[in-house]
Amino acid sequence: MAEQVISPDLNFVKDIIASGGDTLKKCFQCATCTVVCNATPNNRPFPRKEMIYAQWGLKDKLISSPDVWLCHNCNDCTKYCPRGARPGDVLSTMRQKFIQENAMPSIMGKVVTQPKMTLIALAIPLVLFLLVLGLTGHLRTPEGQIVYSKFFPIPYIEAVFMSAVGLAGIAYLASLYRFWNSMSKGNNQPYTKGIVPAFIETLIEFAKHSRFAKCGPNADRRIVHMLVFYGFVGLLITTIWVTVYYYAPKINTPIALSDPLKWVANISAASLLIGGVLLALNKMKDKGFVSKSSTFDWIFAIMILLLCITGILTELIRLAGIATLAYPIYFIHLLFVFYTIVFFPYSKLSHMGYRALAITYSKMTNRDIQI
Ligand code: SF4
Ligand code: SF4
Repeated sequence: MAEQVISPDLNFVKDIIASGGDTLKKCFQCATCTVVCNATPNNRPFPRKEMIYAQWGLKDKLISSPDVWLCHNCNDCTKYCPRGARPGDVLSTMRQKFIQENAMPSIMGKVVTQPKMTLIALAIPLVLFLLVLGLTGHLRTPEGQIVYSKFFPIPYIEAVFMSAVGLAGIAYLASLYRFWNSMSKGNNQPYTKGIVPAFIETLIEFAKHSRFAKCGPNADRRIVHMLVFYGFVGLLITTIWVTVYYYAPKINTPIALSDPLKWVANISAASLLIGGVLLALNKMKDKGFVSKSSTFDWIFAIMILLLCITGILTELIRLAGIATLAYPIYFIHLLFVFYTIVFFPYSKLSHMGYRALAITYSKMTNRDIQI
């Protein structure tokens, strides 16, 4: 039999343990987790093998693995693990470490993925906004009717956000490209399907959230995930729509509540808020087998809630006509908008791209499950 040389990275093991995978060493490879997992394919089952890879410090195998991203964190495996090794949590921690390590530039991975750095992450837009408003003479409460664009003019918002989002988008695409390359080279499996049909199937699955439905006792997470997902999609549509409106000569600001744009915006905000509250409640539930939820996940849930709450307050306080409160709340809301959109490649939200590529790859290499 040919000898196989392995190169363990013990710091990686320590990192996983320190970041929330502290139960990793309890695994004795019984494979119960793999048997109960409804998301695992028959020909390349997980998460047992990922547990041993992590115990041995086989970082290269894990960072090129699509399987780490095929896991939907339902924690059925954690429920049945006879050793309390919590494989669902360990895989979740691996994904967090991956986002951090694969981030470009790497410093942003450290700032956004590490909960203790959250205030520094928020300080970035704070300083940027104060500079823009200060240098353009807008650091004051405007007189008269509350119109947010009098405080932070749209061209300035666009300049700040579009350049930041553009840079973040390029960095994200580079990180995704790196992941795709390591997955293709690390697994070296022949393709049995083209990338386009595989990607289209993946998008349809995303739209239906079909994989969540397979997750046994935690299948109700599908509804919560859909609320958050479609909330974000709706707000993205609204952001593009509102930009078009601001350049349309016949539209007056503030935009009337009866305008369809406001309906989409308010329904999306409600969807995100309800989804965010349910997400937080799910994380607090102690069913004994539900994820212990890393602080990374908590930061995401809290940011969603703060984004929604400040957004709703921005509208309500404007309608109430309290200018002294409206503008500061709007300013704070913009900080959370910046955090959510610009730091997308480094936050929990970035899993969307990695998971889409992993599912696409699994379809192309015939290692997918029947959905
Ligand atoms: S994680 Fe638990 S269920 Fe899975 S192989 Fe290890 S001991 Fe067995
Ligand atoms: S958390 Fe759920 S999807 Fe992930 S490995 Fe465990 S059983 Fe499978």
